[in-house]
Amino acid sequence: MFCAPRDRVAVIVLILCAITCVAQHPATVAADQIWNQLAASNRRFVIGKGAPHDFPARRQAVAKFQHPRVAVLSCFDSRVPPKFVFDAGLGELFVVRSAGEDDDPLSIGRLEYAVEHLGSTVIVVMGHQSCGAVTAACSAGKSE
Ligand SMILES: [Zn+2]
Repeated sequence: MFCAPRDRVAVIVLILCAITCVAQHPATVAADQIWNQLAASNRRFVIGKGAPHDFPARRQAVAKFQHPRVAVLSCFDSRVPPKFVFDAGLGELFVVRSAGEDDDPLSIGRLEYAVEHLGSTVIVVMGHQSCGAVTAACSAGKSE
């Protein structure tokens, strides 16, 4: 589904968790509609044809408030930045990054913040191939 076979930096979405959050934030969009938009934007990334982004206009639009519909937990590997992988503009993704997309308490707390205070309604946990953190965690050798 989500892959870039040419450069061997495939992205695998491990978990898609849709959360209904209607109370405080405007314009709730169905999780599957958001998911379809993410899939389309990922396809643009894969083929190298990202949508044009009007950064000055978006900077103004999100200067005082942000309501990213999607929160992403991903590895902080430099080859898989979620904003590029999902061809996202300013204010579209709330990104939490850790080694091997570790779901440590701080990362979980940040995702909770996105849902409770910013109105994110979809959480994506995004893994990738050739992850050094996962490889190290799964190796038989001792690690500090
Ligand atoms: Zn990684």
